Amino acid sequence: MQDKLMLMIPGPTPVPERVLLAMAAHPIGHRSGDFSAIIGELNDNLKWLHQTKNEVLTLCVSGTGAMEAGIINFLSAGDSVLVGNNGKFGDRWAKMSRKFGLEVEEISAEWGHPLDPEAFRAKLEADTEKKIKAVIITHSETSTGVLNDLETINKHVKAHGEALIIVDAVTSLGAVDLKIDELGLDVVASGSQKGYMIPPGLGFVAVSDKAWKAYETATLPKFYLDLAPYKKANAKNSSPFTPPINLMFALQASLQMMKEEGLENIFARHKRLTQLTRDKVKALGLPLFAPDDCASYAVTAVAPDKHDAEAIRSTMRKKYDIALAGGQDHLKGKIFRIGHLGFMSDRDVLTAIAALEATLKELG
Ligand SMILES: *Cc1c(COP(=O)(O)O)cnc(C)c1O
Repeated sequence: MQDKLMLMIPGPTPVPERVLLAMAAHPIGHRSGDFSAIIGELNDNLKWLHQTKNEVLTLCVSGTGAMEAGIINFLSAGDSVLVGNNGKFGDRWAKMSRKFGLEVEEISAEWGHPLDPEAFRAKLEADTEKKIKAVIITHSETSTGVLNDLETINKHVKAHGEALIIVDAVTSLGAVDLKIDELGLDVVASGSQKGYMIPPGLGFVAVSDKAWKAYETATLPKFYLDLAPYKKANAKNSSPFTPPINLMFALQASLQMMKEEGLENIFARHKRLTQLTRDKVKALGLPLFAPDDCASYAVTAVAPDKHDAEAIRSTMRKKYDIALAGGQDHLKGKIFRIGHLGFMSDRDVLTAIAALEATLKELG
């Protein structure tokens, strides 16, 4: 049925009507006083969401653009970096780092398993000459539904003392309690179509003082994604280029909604929906792809052993108007993923589970 499609993929995520309505307006001039006031509000609320006093910079990019800004502003060609790779997005970090001429050492784990913090400790402790300039990891690995142990890995980075910690928090920000200042995370990248409950098009980068210090000596070329002009503009409630005005209207509304709900409640809701999804999937007799103790709060990957995952997805979509995500790369056909990130409630999960049960019956 038209307009009935329920998005249960880990991005883009559903957008609340209040946010859609906020977007349905004529753009206003980006140098106007009215828009400057909006930028001021956004900057305050972004800091609130990131639990940081650091600058949070807003870019007109998807999440990958925010990741790229996180590399090119703080590193130079030839720099050694440790990259965690246990899925599609960790792999993207590694590929991107190599493209920019960084010396990449990967710490890998099988897809569906978390990164081993001990492997990071060993590499960082062995680096007595302090050659490692950054440790780069994906917090919530969306391709597998694994939440990596950022806190423990970060502890080892802090013990090293020199290396920056650069984090893809695209599907953890706004879902998991991520205390950026308390942990001392240096660069944290995220994107608007995930926990922010708005359409794709905005990327965000939170930057620590230590990272700004590294910025001064970083020599990778950059122009549109050079973060210094964004920082300067932020101080004046302005932007260096024309921002996507209507997406900023959306962000204004979504951040207001998030503030009304409160961070604790948002995190508790994501935790509850994750638990609910996992319990119900197990009750249907379907194996979960990621272990319980490292489950992402954004997405649950299911590895049906008796059915083709793509057949399940197809029936869910055609018959029940529910869009689930498939497996990526070698996991295509082997897993499907249920997104429960952003504007999601218990009812959404229960609906999806009921449809999943009916789908399994239908497929035999
Ligand atoms: C969605 C996502 C990204 C960004 O992807 P874009 O398509 O560039 O927005 C990056 N990392 C993770 C973990 C993601 O889930």
